[in-house]
Amino acid sequence: MSFSRLMEKAQGYLPSEKMVVVEAAYNFALKAHQGQVRKSGKPYIEHPLQVALTLAELQLDASSLAAALLHDVVEICDIPISEVEAKFGSEVAKLVDGTTKLGKLSLKTSGGAAARQAQAENLRKMLVAMAEDLRVVFIKLADRLHNMRTLDALSLEKQRSIAQETLEIYAPLAHRLGIWELKWQLEDLSFRHLEPVKYRQIAKLVAARRAQRESFITQIIQTLSQEFERVGLKAEMSGRPKHIYSIYQKMERYSALGKHFDDIHDLLALRVLVGTVPDCYSAVGVIHSLWRPLPEEFDDFIANPKPNGYQSLHTAVMYQGTTPLEIQIRTRDMHYIAEYGVAAHWRYKEGEEKDIHFEERIAWLRQLIEWH
Ligand code: MN
Repeated sequence: MSFSRLMEKAQGYLPSEKMVVVEAAYNFALKAHQGQVRKSGKPYIEHPLQVALTLAELQLDASSLAAALLHDVVEICDIPISEVEAKFGSEVAKLVDGTTKLGKLSLKTSGGAAARQAQAENLRKMLVAMAEDLRVVFIKLADRLHNMRTLDALSLEKQRSIAQETLEIYAPLAHRLGIWELKWQLEDLSFRHLEPVKYRQIAKLVAARRAQRESFITQIIQTLSQEFERVGLKAEMSGRPKHIYSIYQKMERYSALGKHFDDIHDLLALRVLVGTVPDCYSAVGVIHSLWRPLPEEFDDFIANPKPNGYQSLHTAVMYQGTTPLEIQIRTRDMHYIAEYGVAAHWRYKEGEEKDIHFEERIAWLRQLIEWH
């Protein structure tokens, strides 16, 4: 049952007094959605539970989890927002209200490509502008993610239009907010419904090369750990398989250039996590002295972070003189931001009052507005 999974996740980072509101919201939603079923035939409550679970994975605060559990009670069950406010307070009520209002926006599919693109851009702006509180956008993204996961229950036509909207609006929004963890899932799920044949082809290619890829990466990690150990550098390393949609985009770029997409190095990258910023530069030094770096492939996103806050060193080297290999080097803190982006600044941290991250959050919002 999803509720115990949610409780388990949330208890991992929320103190027990904060769990009270999460439990109360669950009980309220359970009663409100009683007898309702999703198109899939599953009890409706499964949906808000899954949305809350996604937010618990981002380690968002108790109000976000409560609002996620309650996000459809106004829209679907006709419960007045005043009742939500009376029971759960104004913070949770505002989040529920914001999410309900965002639900009313949608992409009009009429007009040409340019009109469509302009509309998509407008909608993205609106989503951000309307969300006085970015937690509303996180709820909306998690809501969309679960809807995408359960898309098979809808007609093919509906599947396609929802997948298209997700790829044009929600995935880019997750990207701008730097929430990689949601972005890649939204992209892959959309792609699976929009281009099922191509999706399966790539998934098969990835699966077929798995064993080869894993032994390749194990070998590289072994060599590198010896070198790091020699210079006293502590690092965690892992192979990072690319997600299906990013492989598809790379294939498209290759075919435009007349290149053939085939090699395993196109399917993976190595990730190196270290403790400090100086360690990042030491690690890249070790790597470059071991294998020849490819010209123009080195990017210092630590000194020059991406607009969404992403920081890392990127390089590509000629492994054993024959195989190009992409490598990302970052600290663990940078890694957290790389996975969860702006949501990391809304993360619940014990012992800290809500406005401690205020400055960080304002900086984020300012950046967002500047992009628009
Ligand atoms: Mn929903």
